[in-house]
Amino acid sequence: MRIQQAEFVTSAMRREQLPREELPEIALVGRSNVGKSSLINKICNRTGLARVSRHPGRTRTINFYRINRAFFLVDLPGYGFARVSDQMKRQWAGTIESYLKNRSVLRAVLHIVDIRHPPTEDDVQMYHWLKHYNYSTLIVATKADKISKGKWPQYISQIRRILVVKEEDKIIPFSAKTGQGKQEILRELAKYAGL
Ligand code: GDP
Repeated sequence: MRIQQAEFVTSAMRREQLPREELPEIALVGRSNVGKSSLINKICNRTGLARVSRHPGRTRTINFYRINRAFFLVDLPGYGFARVSDQMKRQWAGTIESYLKNRSVLRAVLHIVDIRHPPTEDDVQMYHWLKHYNYSTLIVATKADKISKGKWPQYISQIRRILVVKEEDKIIPFSAKTGQGKQEILRELAKYAGL
């Protein structure tokens, strides 16, 4: 698949603001600052589609991008940002949860983690939760350019072990800088979207 058209459609914070369920959706989850926006921009060949933030923790909305008029990429707020109040954290968790729990067009979730760091407690919870709700999950280990290729397998095993990743769930090393992993992610997206 090639992404020929990618357009930002809307942002939502509350359930009532979510757009109509009209096309298949593929969501992205990950810690704040993990590189979700950079991934969206790279796979869509666009520099400014998703906002890459120098101020982590600011994005609270669910952002919908329509791809090739065929499916939506849905960027959920980053979790695990330390410098916000507990009330704010609960609010974000609520936003994420109410989307994930009630979306009948949701086909799969891309769980983005940083290849260099052992997954956090928040990451473990998120993965556990995705499996609890039986979502097809693709784990993307991003910022792969920051370590040498020879070391990828050991970092990937660490992620697999800590998240207790199911055998059928792939982990793809990715870099928004070099494009490593992009084609593989596009193939998976096409499959999930039924293209
Ligand atoms: P988000 O908060 O998850 O959307 O994260 P961003 O996409 O805004 O990225 C957070 C920071 O990580 C930015 O400074 C990016 O330039 C950087 N970053 C994201 N992806 C990569 C990557 O693959 N390689 C490198 N070297 N830096 C990255």
